[in-house]
Amino acid sequence: MNKDKTVYDGFLTVQEKDFRMRILLPPDRQLKRAKLHCSWKLKHLLHGYEHIVKQRLQQSPDLVSFILELKTVLEVGLKSRPECSSISPPHYYSQLISEIETLGWDKLLFIDTEFRTLRLKAEDSSRRQHILTIKFQSKHPAEAPECLADLPVPLAMTWTPQSNLQQLHNHFLLVLESLTEFWDVLDEIDSWTWILEPEKPSRADTMRRIAIENNVSIKVEVDPRHPKMLPECFLLGAEHVVTPLRNKLNANIHSWNPNSSVLHNLRDVLEITFPSPATHEKSNFSTECGICYSYRLEAAIPDQVCNDPRCGQPFHQACLYEWLRTLPSSRQSFNIVFGECPYCSKPITVKMSAQKR
Ligand SMILES: [Zn+2]
Ligand SMILES: [Zn+2]
Repeated sequence: MNKDKTVYDGFLTVQEKDFRMRILLPPDRQLKRAKLHCSWKLKHLLHGYEHIVKQRLQQSPDLVSFILELKTVLEVGLKSRPECSSISPPHYYSQLISEIETLGWDKLLFIDTEFRTLRLKAEDSSRRQHILTIKFQSKHPAEAPECLADLPVPLAMTWTPQSNLQQLHNHFLLVLESLTEFWDVLDEIDSWTWILEPEKPSRADTMRRIAIENNVSIKVEVDPRHPKMLPECFLLGAEHVVTPLRNKLNANIHSWNPNSSVLHNLRDVLEITFPSPATHEKSNFSTECGICYSYRLEAAIPDQVCNDPRCGQPFHQACLYEWLRTLPSSRQSFNIVFGECPYCSKPITVKMSAQKR
């Protein structure tokens, strides 16, 4: 870098990785009193090796041999670093194997090459298949493993250093049993109605948007702990269709029978039969948005409808909001935009959704 040959700046390549470094020598160019500036990556890598670097600076006859020495130190550092954090002491493996042995190898669906992530299978009493993913910490069993499962409730298990895989699996089975009624309720809805949302319900999903007729649907939120109780209901569609349904719901709500299924109760209180895959095509209900001409916009489906009984055109909330906002004739009050339906020019309003703000 300079005429005096006291400042050197450049890259050190170790295992195809480049590390920026700078060496500052004193005016007498004595290596012993040299200063080394490193990039943060290099610093991180040399952490714990500082004394070796210092020693090499003291002992190396010249700059070139020092750099070669430094390269060796880094080679060793790079080789040992990523592994020393992932390789566990031998008893970790013997402990884990014996735990799998006790549980039964037939329950093991998957194990990664580092023996860190396991997938166990479980079947509930209604013969539904479930998967429990377990990520062990290197200090297993002293530290609680991370558990993941497709459940509507948290898999709360108190882990102690004495806990093992068998106990974890048993706990998972208990949680599954406590949810069988919830899944029975939803499975019935899923097989006898057209579900508009979620697109592919998972075992964790508690919400269903069920098609009633074209552009009319009901959103129900089933409580996993009390699945047969009256769920939270929300009717979606044009006012002239939704109002009579809402009136029936309010008038018949007292006859909700907690011993019967949610689907049967919904049929009774709304006094309707839901269109089902046996009687209708799904395309009857998945009407596209009148602005973007598609059905799904990211995850959203058209859930705003023109309230004019002769129009009833559905729109995505985001599309309608953007459309009305650009019209000079529309006006906004707080988060509601008032304007005209792009199809029939009758008054229409749209609320700006919280996440669009
Ligand atoms: Zn749209
Ligand atoms: Zn309209």
